[in-house]
Amino acid sequence: MATDETELADLLCSSCGRVTEHDVVYAGRLLLHTECHRCHHIVRYPHESLPDEYLEDLKDRVRTKPRRLLRRANRHPRRFLAGLPGAVLRQPRKMIGELRRVRRESAEERRRQDPGST
Ligand SMILES: [Zn+2]
Repeated sequence: MATDETELADLLCSSCGRVTEHDVVYAGRLLLHTECHRCHHIVRYPHESLPDEYLEDLKDRVRTKPRRLLRRANRHPRRFLAGLPGAVLRQPRKMIGELRRVRRESAEERRRQDPGST
């Protein structure tokens, strides 16, 4: 799975005991889980309440957005202008993707804590 919320990293897998390529999956700036490419072992990162943490992070991202946009505009003005319409249009779809991941991940966390109920 390669989306812009997934990064690749060489990590030591606790299941197969080797350093292998892993998917590192985020929702926004929150780390959700890593998955070993070799044995598909998944390590989920514990969150108190993932939806709350995600919303907090989202608020922070929105608050600091103008500053981050300005910094990018100063650094690469041409690239910034050329990429702006696409970047703006991609935002809602990107957030929908993030929310989906947060929901999926929270459901998975609940299932593991309380295997009897679904
Ligand atoms: Zn592994």
